[in-house]
Amino acid sequence: MKGNIGITTENIFPVIKKFLYSDHEIFLREIVANAVDATQKLRTLSSKGEFQGELGDLTVNVCLDKEAGTLTISDRGIGMTAEEVDRYINQIAFSGATDFLEKYKDDAAAIIGHFGLGFYSSFMVAKSVDIVTLSWQPGAKAVKWTCDGSPAFELEDTDKADRGTDIVLHIDDDCKEFLEKYRIEQLLKKYCKFLPVEIAFGKKTKWEDGQEKETDELNVINDTHPLWTRKPAELKDEDYTAFYKQLYPMHDDPLFWIHLNVDYPFNLTGVLYFPKIKNQLDVRRNGIQLYCNQVFVTDQVENIVPDFLTLLHGVIDSPDIPLNVSRSYLQSDANVKKISGYITKKVADRLKQIFRQNREDFEKKWDDLKLFIHYGILSEMDFYDKASDFALLKDTEGKYYTYAEYQEFIKDQQTDKDGTLVCLYTHDPALHHAQIETARLKGYNVLLLDGQLDAPLVSTLEQKWVMDENQNQNENENKRQVRFTRVDADTIDRLIAKDSAPEQTEEEKKAAEALTKAFEGLLPKLDKTEFTVQAAAAGPDAMPLIVTQSEYMRRMKEMSQLQQGMSFYGDLPTAYSLVLNTDHRLVKAVQANEKPEESPLIPQLIDLALLQAGLLKGQALTQFIKRSVDLI
Ligand code: ADP
Repeated sequence: MKGNIGITTENIFPVIKKFLYSDHEIFLREIVANAVDATQKLRTLSSKGEFQGELGDLTVNVCLDKEAGTLTISDRGIGMTAEEVDRYINQIAFSGATDFLEKYKDDAAAIIGHFGLGFYSSFMVAKSVDIVTLSWQPGAKAVKWTCDGSPAFELEDTDKADRGTDIVLHIDDDCKEFLEKYRIEQLLKKYCKFLPVEIAFGKKTKWEDGQEKETDELNVINDTHPLWTRKPAELKDEDYTAFYKQLYPMHDDPLFWIHLNVDYPFNLTGVLYFPKIKNQLDVRRNGIQLYCNQVFVTDQVENIVPDFLTLLHGVIDSPDIPLNVSRSYLQSDANVKKISGYITKKVADRLKQIFRQNREDFEKKWDDLKLFIHYGILSEMDFYDKASDFALLKDTEGKYYTYAEYQEFIKDQQTDKDGTLVCLYTHDPALHHAQIETARLKGYNVLLLDGQLDAPLVSTLEQKWVMDENQNQNENENKRQVRFTRVDADTIDRLIAKDSAPEQTEEEKKAAEALTKAFEGLLPKLDKTEFTVQAAAAGPDAMPLIVTQSEYMRRMKEMSQLQQGMSFYGDLPTAYSLVLNTDHRLVKAVQANEKPEESPLIPQLIDLALLQAGLLKGQALTQFIKRSVDLI
């Protein structure tokens, strides 16, 4: 028999050949997946009693013949009769697809995705393809179909001893890479690693007398029962960590995992792992692999799952994920969108569960987990609502609090005269040792916020906590405010102002002016740094000079490092205030001088303050030390 492949294909073939798949390599996945399907179908027929013969060995064999220039995929599945070849292979536009094709004729990838023109993808790499097949049906005759990539094909009777199908690809001259053993092995490992039927690529080899020799054993490349297809109840922690190692051999053990298993409103199974994320947001994106019935689809999941979930590792398998090569098509797929919303919810639920069941363990892992959760809070509005139940804050003493616990804990001490709840924090307890001590003496708590995302996080918390708090209040009541402030942003009395500062008299103002002038003239000139001097009563126990840095400006500068479009702040000089504590005896001594600006105390006091703020460096530091040694 001779003929032409279905009417619509005339337009499709050149498309397939040229640019249909950006990755030519997926042809192997398509052909092997078909072989697996045919095998599964035979198993089903057998279990129903429709097929009564011996199933025998069902391994799918992939064979490379470099000399003949062929790659052959053989299965012992259901096979096809001549009539079936005609229906399934020749009339690819079967099942009323002509309309669809008309509509999407410019979007080749959508066409492929819709029809699963899987088999035809072999023409991306083959100059001609043979199908030699014998149906399982009693009395069936073997047939051979040959096609050279044009719409013309040949179909003839042939001899085939065994049930099933051989797909013989005569590899094109410009695709010789697919005749290389290592390349095929690589592709099988990538796409077929977890297929549910054994796939053998030739025989196993061993080294003998300095030579690689073939053994009798089949070289099976896949695991037919990967972990996510098994029941959670049958699995131990070791199984999960072992599977993780199989996926990511170079990684530390994961912190937690979630075994996903849904059958409504869509089908989805999988395991997601929370890796240790120490630092750096882009540690290993794309750690999630998408599968469709155990066939690998992609590991490029950005825009398919929410951005913060791309930090997770693991496997998602859903027959509802179209086995498709076009990413834009995947993103707009309604099922894929539903799936992504579902996973976000599952991840939050699971974290909440772990938190409730074993808070101690959760706290232990928090530091490795927080970047992930903070990223989720910052990027997905819905996630905050769930995460606010288990997201933690850690204080400088190593204690952990939920958001609600912390607000309750500091409420009495750290509400200022205007009703604003003030949360104090440091990113570096060693640097801010003095300020933390001062805060502690006042009965205040100081948080440790040393994460990469803490600057935007505190801004979000300031808004969210106010909203949470004010939800239950009526319009007219005073709205409560929340403010996060680093301990070095001002003197402690001004960070949490308990009462209004008394009005200064004219005389006091003048004295303060003279004092600040005296210091201003002696300030060091530092690159990209600005100082302003002010006098304030900070209490006799506080240091004579205190270097502070405005919370707002500092935070904007930090954000500008993370976000684009904020370089305005990034380019500004770093601004510090030098607060002269007029309650301190040494400052009083300077003030008592007839000519304050000539007081020998000033340079020493300035250097000490800079030293404490970590700003005294290089030559200035050397001079300071010399001067101090001389003094002793
Ligand atoms: P899809 O697999 O998405 O249906 P394909 O173009 O890959 O599309 O295959 C078309 C049809 O050809 C399959 O649905 C199947 O009926 C038949 N077929 C392909 N390969 C085999 C095979 N190895 N054994 C039996 N039937 C096959």
